[in-house]
Amino acid sequence: MPLHQQSKTNQNIDSQTEEKSIRHLLEDFKASMKRAFHEEDKIDQFCSTRGLPPAVLKELMSENPLALCIPKEYGGFGGSVRDNIAFVSAASYESLALSLTLGINNALFIQPVSKYGQESAKPKVFNQFLNHSCMGGLMITEPDFGSDALSMHTSFTQKEGYFHIRGKKHWAGLTGMADFWLLTARKRTDTDSLMRDIDMFICDVNAPRQNIVVEEYFENLGLYQIPYGRNHIDVYIPEEQRLIPRTNGIQMLLDLLHRSRFQFPGMGLGFIKRILDEAIAYKIARCWQQTSVRLRPGPTPAHKVTGQFHNLLSFLPEVGRDCRHRKRFVVTRPRSEYHQKCYFRYDAGIGTVAAATRRCQRI
Ligand SMILES: Cc1cc2nc3c(=O)[nH]c(=O)nc-3n(C[C@H](O)[C@H](O)[C@H](O)COP(=O)(O)OP(=O)(O)OC[C@H]3O[C@@H](n4cnc5c(N)ncnc54)[C@H](O)[C@@H]3O)c2cc1C
Repeated sequence: MPLHQQSKTNQNIDSQTEEKSIRHLLEDFKASMKRAFHEEDKIDQFCSTRGLPPAVLKELMSENPLALCIPKEYGGFGGSVRDNIAFVSAASYESLALSLTLGINNALFIQPVSKYGQESAKPKVFNQFLNHSCMGGLMITEPDFGSDALSMHTSFTQKEGYFHIRGKKHWAGLTGMADFWLLTARKRTDTDSLMRDIDMFICDVNAPRQNIVVEEYFENLGLYQIPYGRNHIDVYIPEEQRLIPRTNGIQMLLDLLHRSRFQFPGMGLGFIKRILDEAIAYKIARCWQQTSVRLRPGPTPAHKVTGQFHNLLSFLPEVGRDCRHRKRFVVTRPRSEYHQKCYFRYDAGIGTVAAATRRCQRI
């Protein structure tokens, strides 16, 4: 085989292996969600209280889902935006809050650090994510500068190998929970004015002089598992923890924010699939109930039963079409009332659930 063809084949094998390992990671993550939300702790018990029970969080992080987007040279899977969306979608099927937590970590911290972080700072940071289940978030918004973020007042000065950053930030997702933050700030000049450009810095809250004080936790509505609040910033960041923009800081910030918006369709996809599955399961359960109630008092003509089913199935066009095609609901020769009921139940239960599940899987 010519050399160029050989290297192409090797590349294909490499990308297949990579695809496979990312798929394994996704399967393991789905299994950990099942254990965390449905076996060890019932999600219904804590979904309307603030925060996540520590055991649940530990279980969710046990398969190291944040390794997905960490570059391969630092021990991660080097996942792309597409892989990130697949994970976010799988997570939102179980929990929107978990999905957004993954999204914050990947899109608002890991991906920008991978792209713009200095080589000397990355190994230490990524090692904390891979081996100590650390989390990261992003602080842009300030109490007086929300939509008008570029006018932010958090500022930095540079001295003796450090950036001294001071200011207030609020509404950052994972407030008080994340171990690492990307802090945004404007340079304060010698004449005490603020430069127009925005710089970004990695802050490790467990390192000396980098602690961020949470002044207040917000009692916000919405996804209760994600904490928000107001933070006081007065930290000294080593020079190697500054992100290096390709052109300027505002472009870097825009790139970060634009890439992060890819997640929302991913979150929506998993969530809508869950609603669809639940709606179908609910409707099927109702069909079952109504049929057995009708059948119980005495023999029911088959055509009546099938008629009811066709009406009910018309609420579910996908399922109904599947079933009607194969005429599985026509009870042809009931030998007894009992036999009719069993036969019907068999078809309604097994046939419809299977068809519905297949349909859902295809979507
Ligand atoms: C759930 C949630 C998660 C968040 N996560 C993060 C995070 O992780 N990190 C982070 O840094 N921030 C985060 N934020 C903050 C978010 O980015 C800001 O809330 C957003 O930028 C809006 O700012 P604001 O709330 O101060 O509203 P304001 O800017 O005060 O806006 C209030 C209203 O005025 C309108 N408005 C503002 N300016 C204009 C204008 N010029 N013309 C017309 N109308 C205008 C807005 O549309 C809005 O309706 C989060 C917020 C929420 C709610």
